[in-house]
Amino acid sequence: MSSVHLIFCMAVLAGGTVTTRIIPRYDGLLMELTSDETITDSITVTGYFVNVRPGNRVVMPDTYLPFWVCGWETDADSSGFTVELTDAVDSLEYCLSEDNQVLLLFFRAAEPLVFPELSWNGPPEEPFCIDSSLVYSDSSIIAALELGQQSPWLDDFDCIVIDPGHGGRDPGAVGPEGTYEKDRALEIALLVRDILNIRRPELEIVMTRSSDCYVSLGARTRFANERKADLFISIHCNAAVNSSANGFETFFLSRARSDDSRAVEMLENSVIEYDEGYNTANHDFRDDALSFLLADIAQNIYLERSSSLAVTIQESMAERFPGSSNRGVKQAGFYVLRGALMPSVLVEIAFISNSNEERMLQSLDFRLASAEAIVDAVLAFAEKQ
Ligand SMILES: [Zn+2]
Repeated sequence: MSSVHLIFCMAVLAGGTVTTRIIPRYDGLLMELTSDETITDSITVTGYFVNVRPGNRVVMPDTYLPFWVCGWETDADSSGFTVELTDAVDSLEYCLSEDNQVLLLFFRAAEPLVFPELSWNGPPEEPFCIDSSLVYSDSSIIAALELGQQSPWLDDFDCIVIDPGHGGRDPGAVGPEGTYEKDRALEIALLVRDILNIRRPELEIVMTRSSDCYVSLGARTRFANERKADLFISIHCNAAVNSSANGFETFFLSRARSDDSRAVEMLENSVIEYDEGYNTANHDFRDDALSFLLADIAQNIYLERSSSLAVTIQESMAERFPGSSNRGVKQAGFYVLRGALMPSVLVEIAFISNSNEERMLQSLDFRLASAEAIVDAVLAFAEKQ
């Protein structure tokens, strides 16, 4: 186990507001602090806790926690912050610009590309959960869809929504050893986000959830529409009554075509039972501001691209996991994809109901390789847009 070994402390005078930018890299994490006035850098390192006091009002990014960091907290007087690092970080380097307005901190990884176990067991300060009351209601977009045109924002490919399946009171499928689908899906999704941030820092990557919290199916796509995302990727682990079922498959939206697809569809759609106020007897989606008829039109517009992304993901997974069974691209009627006004897919990484694959899902190497396979496919897809 490595440790942060640099201990230093220094101070200069300062004022103003400091904004913080987080730039993840394969060899560590770069933090850029920029101030409109002079920065006072005062850095104290205690074990894995690094306290930085620029002496100005600090604005920290609110939702993004890259994997080198367990957490961060703004000091009570707002003039500094403390970062808690994971043991993947070996040392800290820093430099201050000549005009004393930019402070760069580099948390260097012991070994490049070492991804620590992700954990959210600690109490998340304020878990980022999207507002489920969020409703998309831009009439110009609805009008475009009715004319069979794509959502206008898709012209520039700059935002991807990653959707870890289940969460909170909805555990998803549970493996024979008690592994929850919601946990493994979140871990893989966070890796996808972080690797995308590294490889294409100009893309905006947004999560429908980044902690163990419940988000309704409808809220997930409404959120993606609200953020004008260009791609929606839902990440899940599969389950089947037959405990020897294995392999990976990717779905895009349509009526389920085979009995197998219908089974997966029923399993994933059963989440709706966890929605407050949902009543299976009389629920229908007409209440939704965006009618599902319109969503169907949207998905027809994106059908080709959604299926092309699904194919690319399957190819990419097959390349990474030649020993696993490639179950192919399938079509099913997932509620979680139905409201998406952009190309969307649902990836079933492996079968959590199969004890071999449950063990695979418990391994960080496997989760990392799965995340990289998805990222490769997304970037190949983005090239074609
Ligand atoms: Zn699922």
